[in-house]
Amino acid sequence: MKCSMCNRPAITFIRRVKKYFCEEHFLQFVLKQVRRYLEKHGIRRKKILIAVSGGKDSMVMLHTLKMLSEDFKLDITPFYINLGITGYSDPCESVVREVSEELELTPIIISLREYAGYTIDDAARIERKKPCSTCGTVKRYITNRIAYEGGYDYVATGHTMIDEFAFALHNLYSGSIDTFLRSYEITDTRKDLKLVGRIKPLYYLLESETLTYAIVNKIKYCNLECPYAQGHPTQVHKEIGLMGEYRLQGYVQRILSSLNKLKKMIPERPDNNIRFCKICGYPTVTDICKYCRLKAKFSRE
Ligand code: SF4
Ligand code: ZN
Ligand code: ZN
Repeated sequence: MKCSMCNRPAITFIRRVKKYFCEEHFLQFVLKQVRRYLEKHGIRRKKILIAVSGGKDSMVMLHTLKMLSEDFKLDITPFYINLGITGYSDPCESVVREVSEELELTPIIISLREYAGYTIDDAARIERKKPCSTCGTVKRYITNRIAYEGGYDYVATGHTMIDEFAFALHNLYSGSIDTFLRSYEITDTRKDLKLVGRIKPLYYLLESETLTYAIVNKIKYCNLECPYAQGHPTQVHKEIGLMGEYRLQGYVQRILSSLNKLKKMIPERPDNNIRFCKICGYPTVTDICKYCRLKAKFSRE
């Protein structure tokens, strides 16, 4: 097959746009999607903390933002939290260090053991259950705090269109309507609340596209799966999205866009309960924030 843009041999077919792409035009296609996101949200001349896990999507996000950093005048820093998950965290940290060096970026690396006094393995052992909820809390808290204290305008995460789709479906499935309604393409920074906004530069890309981009650019990534990830229901919702995408052109994008329209019809409810944690001074809805409660619980054991 030939590239739909230039007649050179195609390396891939993107079903949702019904086009064949050669290597060069495929790379342009991916960068165009990231560019579209940055332009839509006016992300220019910003200082961005790039939260990476070492996995494929986050490494592709790092690479694309580096490619576009000059055009958009972005000041970018990779950021990795070593969660202390045996057989997973250390190899992923090595990949983050290696790729950052190749891209001539200096990463910020935090060890959860040093920062909070425990690891995610400790949390799993003490609670005798999957540590994903604890993990989510510490990642959100530490990332926000480092970004706030470092004067960053945004935190970038490597969520793709299919992640957003699976997250939305999972929240609807589990009845977490508030979480569903509060998930946006972008959230603004609220310095008065010590909250740094979040951006998702891969929002207009599918995972199959980030995988092809990683292969074509020979981008190193950590191919390991977190041992606690297995059996999480979000995986089922991802599979639904992928199946839909295979059978119906643009399925994921269409559903997401309709859900976003639906969200806009529901008036935003201001969160009047937000106050500042009595221990750390960061925002919370209770007197002591969840992060500080977890820290007290796990570092005691
Ligand atoms: Fe954390 Fe692993 Fe759960 Fe992801 S799957 S939230 S990295 S413990
Ligand atoms: Zn071409
Ligand atoms: Zn606190």
